[in-house]
This record gives sequence, C-alpha cells and structure tokens, in this order.
Amino acid sequence: MPALKTPAIVIRTYPLRDSHRIITFYTPELGKVKVVAYGVKSPKSKLSGSLELLNHGMLLFNYRENRDLQNLTGFDLIEGFDGIRSDFTRITYGCYFAELVDAITIEGDANPEIFNLLIYTYQFLSEIDDVPLLARVFEIKFLELAGFSPQLTHCANCSAQVNAFLPQKLKSNHSGSPVIVFSVGHGGVLCIECHHRDTNAFSIAPGSCELLKTLRSADLPKVQRIRASTRNHRELKLLLSSFIQYHTERNIKSLKFIESVLET
Ligand SMILES: [Zn+2]
Repeated sequence: MPALKTPAIVIRTYPLRDSHRIITFYTPELGKVKVVAYGVKSPKSKLSGSLELLNHGMLLFNYRENRDLQNLTGFDLIEGFDGIRSDFTRITYGCYFAELVDAITIEGDANPEIFNLLIYTYQFLSEIDDVPLLARVFEIKFLELAGFSPQLTHCANCSAQVNAFLPQKLKSNHSGSPVIVFSVGHGGVLCIECHHRDTNAFSIAPGSCELLKTLRSADLPKVQRIRASTRNHRELKLLLSSFIQYHTERNIKSLKFIESVLET
C-alpha cells in the first residue's frame, strides 16, 4: 500500500456517518481522488479545519489500486483563498467551479492544466470586478481542457467558415441584425447552409461570439480589463450553461443556486 503525496484542491466534501467525511480532491497528476477522512469531525482531529471546500494543500494518502475510496493520512494547507470566503458571491461561484470539475472529470484521469486553471481562477476570484465574466472564462477554458470545446469559427456540421447572417426562420432573432447561430447538439456554430439542421439552435450577436473566442485564449489578469455588455453576458451564459448541461447530463446545483439567488 504505497503512501502518496500530491498537491490537491478540495472540490467536494460530505459526511460519512457521525464522525467521518468523504472528500473528493482534484490533483495535477492523479486527476480526481476520493478519500475517507476517518474521525475528522471529532474535536481532537488535527485535520478538521484544513479540509474545507476549495482549500489547496498537500494531500497524503495510502493508495490502493481498484478502490473507489482511498485512506487519507494527512493534508497540509497551502492556501485557503480567504479573499473568496468573506464574500458570498465569490464563494458561491468558487463552489460552482469545484462542482463543475467534479461533474466533468473522472477519477485517475490526470490533467495538470485543469488543476492550474482552478488554482489561478481561485486566486483571481478575490480581486475580479466582473465575477460572472470570470465564470464564463473558467467555463470556456475548462471545457477546452476537458476536450469539449465548442467550435466557434467553422461550421460544426460542414466545416465551412462561419460568418454572421440574417436567418429568415429563426424566431429568436427579432432585431433584424446579422447573427451567429449556435447549436449545442452539433457542438458549435452553424453556417447559413446548415443552420436549419438543428431546430433548437439559437442565435447570438457576432460580438458575443468574438468575445467568447477572446475569453478562451485570454490570460486571467487581462480579463479584468474586458468589458462585456448585458447582452454579451446573457448570451454567453445561455450558450455555455446549455453546452455544459448537454455534456454533463446532470444539473449543476450551484449554477441553479446562482441563478435563483445571485441573478434575481
Ligand atoms: Zn455548414
């Protein structure tokens, strides 16, 4: 039973009987790791304070192959992201990012870039002015790293370059301005020839599509200088949450919470 040590972030935690907890970590080299922390709810436990959701630390556990749950032996806190915890909006979004990683990644599938994205996003979350915009940045970058990035430049059906056009039959577009048509089912934008292939496709402003391309490649500190309109926010939220729901096939509870509490 080898003892393993790895940097890790707590992405989920829930009780197991009276005094134990099951904790899911995300790690750079082992992907998602699920452990049991025995006796952690006892007042005598040295670990109880350090295993808070979103904490970044050095995880120690005994690894057993073919076991769903590993046995936690230690967790040394590196960073607790206190700047997020004192703000209800920021901690709520922080929990959403953790839930998203938990929903889309699988155990044992290493992806150091996802680990780094999560750390950088939490560091940046305490200082960004436009928190929902940072959420869109996290979503598009995370989807790309997880292998689900939407196609934004070429038609997801025929691969032709996509330009904005005026769809005659799309009821959602009343403005009379050229739009970009996006299909969740096809995994990206559709050209003028193919847009009728998905009756559930929706239209977004060309500017929203351009903004999404910018967010996908932007360094996080640059996001502080990007200004998004109300329409950009609404369309990118719809596009990315529809896309995420399609790929996870489950409701992300913290996103529903954000919609019902923070966006009303
Ligand atoms: Zn096409």
